[in-house]
This record gives sequence, C-alpha cells and structure tokens, in this order.
Amino acid sequence: MALHQNLIAGEWTGGDAIPNINPSDTNEVVGEYARGTADDMKNAIAAAKAAFPAWSRSGILERHAILKKTADEILARKDELGALLSREEGKTLPEGTGEVIRAAQIFDFYAGETLRLTGETVPSARPGIGVEITREPVGVVGIITPWNFPIAIPAWKIAPALAYGNTIVFKPAELVPGSAWAIVDILHRAGLPKGVLNLVMGKGSVVGQAMLDSPDLAGLTFTGSTGTGKRVALASIEHNRKFQLEMGGKNPFVVLDDADLTVAVEAAANSGFFATGQRCTASSRIIVTEGIHDKFVAALTERLGKINVGHAMEKDSHVGPVVDQSQLKQDTDYIDIGRKEGAKLAFGGELLNRATPGFYLQPALFTEVSNQMRIAREEIFGPVAAVIRVKDYDEALATANDTPFGLSSGIATTSLKHATHFKRNSEAGMVMVNLPTAGVDFHVPFGGRKGSSFGSREQGKYANEFFTVVKTAYTQA
Ligand code: ADP
Repeated sequence: MALHQNLIAGEWTGGDAIPNINPSDTNEVVGEYARGTADDMKNAIAAAKAAFPAWSRSGILERHAILKKTADEILARKDELGALLSREEGKTLPEGTGEVIRAAQIFDFYAGETLRLTGETVPSARPGIGVEITREPVGVVGIITPWNFPIAIPAWKIAPALAYGNTIVFKPAELVPGSAWAIVDILHRAGLPKGVLNLVMGKGSVVGQAMLDSPDLAGLTFTGSTGTGKRVALASIEHNRKFQLEMGGKNPFVVLDDADLTVAVEAAANSGFFATGQRCTASSRIIVTEGIHDKFVAALTERLGKINVGHAMEKDSHVGPVVDQSQLKQDTDYIDIGRKEGAKLAFGGELLNRATPGFYLQPALFTEVSNQMRIAREEIFGPVAAVIRVKDYDEALATANDTPFGLSSGIATTSLKHATHFKRNSEAGMVMVNLPTAGVDFHVPFGGRKGSSFGSREQGKYANEFFTVVKTAYTQA
C-alpha cells in the first residue's frame, strides 16, 4: 500500500506509517499515512516562515486562481472524496459527500473573498493628514483539526488563511488523515508555492505539541476537546500568539407545548443522532415543557426505532458507527453513568452486531434527566441525548442557559413571541428556530460563547478577524 507522506517545503517526505482504519469494518485499512516527528514540525514551521514574505505580497489573482481551482477539483471528485471520508470517519456516504461539497463551497467562497479585500481611508483629527486602515496577514498560522469533520474543518481554516495571505502548518487528527492529505495534495497541485502550506500528520502529543511550543507561529486556530484547547491557549499566551479555539458543546434544544410535533421530532432526531451524534453542534439536551413531554418522547422514541445503524457505505444506513474504540467506550461509560444517576434509558444504548466488525451503537435516549446530572453537563460526543422535563418557557430558557457551554441552541415553537425572546436571550453563538442545532451554512459566522469557544468567529467574511491584523497608517501630504 502506497504511503501518503507529509508535505514540507513543497516536498513529500516522511517514512514511519500509521494505518488508517475503517470504523465500519476494522479489518479494512483505508490507507497508510506518515507519522511525523517533532523535527518534521520544526522544518515545516521554518518552511512556512521562509515562504511568508512572498506569499503575503502575492497578487490577489494568484490566490483567487489557486483557491478556485481547488474548489473545482474537490467538487469534481465529490463521490470519490466522500467515500474516502466515510470510510475513514464512519459517517454515512450522503453525509460524507455532503461534507465534501461543503468544503468545495468554502474554497469557492474564499476564492471570491480574495477579490473583495478592502480597507478604509478616514480623515485624521489633524488637518492635512490622511489615515489608512488596512488588514495584513498574521504570518505563519498553525492549524489543528479534530476527526469529526475531516474535510470541512480543515477547509474552513485553510481557505481563509490562504486567501488573506498567511502561510500554514497543518496538523490533522490522527484518525482521519486521508481527507486532510487529499486537500493538501489538491492545493499543492493547484500551484501553491513551496512552503506556503505544510502538512505534518502524526500524534497530537508529538507534532501538535511541537507546534504549540514553537516561538515562530504568529497564530494558531484549533478545533477539538476542551482539555487540548486549554493547552493551546496557555502555550499561545506564553508565545504572545493570536489564537482561536472551538471546543465542546452541550447544546440545548427546547420543545414548547405549542411546537409542531413533526418539526420538533425531526429536528431532535437529526441533531441528536445523525452523524452518530459526533458533532459539536449536536443537541444533547432536549428540554421539553410538560404539556407536550409524553407525546414528544413517544414520537421521538418511535422515530429512533426507524434509524438503521450500519456500515457507512451501505445505502440503507442512516447512521454510521462510532469513530473508534475509545470514543465507543466513552459513550457506553456515559450510558452507565446516566443509569446510575437515576435517569431512565427510554430507548437504545445497546452495542450492535453487523456483518463487519465495527463500533456500532444504537442511539440512546434518556428521560427523567435533571440538568444537574453528569449526562446533562458533560459533553459525551456520541449518539446519546437526554430529555429534561420543565414546567414552562421560562424554566426551559433558564435550563438551556444553565451550562458551561454556549455553541448552538434551538427551539421548536409556533409562537413568535417565544421564538423572538429565545433568539435574544439564549447564551449561545448560534440559535436555531424550528431547525436542528446542527447543520450550518458555509458563508456566515460559526462559533460559540462561554466554554465552547475563544476568540473571533470562523467562516464567512468574519474569518478575517482571526486571519488578519489591522494596521493604521498616517500620511502628511
Ligand atoms: P478529540 O478528543 O476530539 O480527539 P483532541 O483535543 O484530543 O480531541 O484532538 C483534537 C486535535 O488536537 C487533534 O488533531 C489532536 O491530535 C490534537 N492534539 C491532541 N493533543 C495535543 C497536544 N498536546 N498539542 C497539540 N495538539 C494536540
């Protein structure tokens, strides 16, 4: 099997291989990917530093052409790349292909952004002096990504970093190097100059840590767990480096008595369980007012009974396997914790046998949950959701906001008054009305509040807040 190597200073290098295993069939090796070393990371950072002066001054048409070509190739290869993504991560083929299309849309959007760069000219407080306010690239930017969106998250960090003139060292998650390698290969062939984008695959504790410890990174954008996010923050402060964190969620989805039951059930099933519940925007707390509670639980349980959990590549699978053994253990540990805390397992939670060996877990729904239980406070990151019964809208809102996280939130209601009040008062970065908490557009800001996020927003034009620095220049004519 051919080894997929790291890309450092425009050369494919590196030997020691890690097999990329298919969670739908652990007998299948999706590919062999290089395991980078701390020295590889140092060399990659040096290459990105050397490439920065020229790339930061590159013409906008050159950047536009490379990003556009990348978008076009990703889209043309959506079926092949979608299959690769589904084989390495375990989300179903439609989910994998959908994510690939989204990556293409992101590159297309930022290709357009290169043609829309602007600044401001304002009069000085002092007559005869002009003031220009411009945005410049930050420098060498480190990108660390998680396994749950193997192509979309790399795309939404790499595309703006390049569009705004930064050079990059990129470390994807160990479990999903295939999609990451594919987009780096596409960008490299699209004509990126040597050293502008460097890929170092390998262990977080080795190559990721080497990135954190470098004095030469001007910026670091991270998506992953809260624990690693804290390390990124501390190391970045130590090195006086700009940083951006996207971490966990414990996203509430409120269902009010006046909700359309079908809308509420579909949104809860989708955002709680699709993509195997492995989305930081998944609804893991479903907060339901007492008038509709029993009806809603019965309808949601019936809906969950119709979800086929199976091999990601099979046509009739609605939900794929959990990503790996350690995530599966975390999910089943939390199911045990929920039971011991006194919650009622109303549906699922069983390990499933399928034709191939994989990490198959039936969606699990807890009821009779209090918002103080661990299953309502800690991120599980699997197909496990908790229903919390409340008296009325006011208690629902208070419960929704009573969490250390604040990424996404949702409400199912036909009341304009409650929908409007919820949009204004939900302590989350993204609020959905009659929609799942997961599933966002590619061209508008993404990010959260409280323990979920730190720094400026990702995606859309708001990404320029992280990937550029502002300069104010004064001129006396
Ligand atoms: P998850 O539990 O979702 O795997 P992690 O925070 O462990 O979340 O992983 C997210 C990303 O952070 C991965 O690319 C991982 O390799 C990387 N990572 C893990 N540990 C470190 C570390 N000490 N320094 C830098 N990156 C790390």
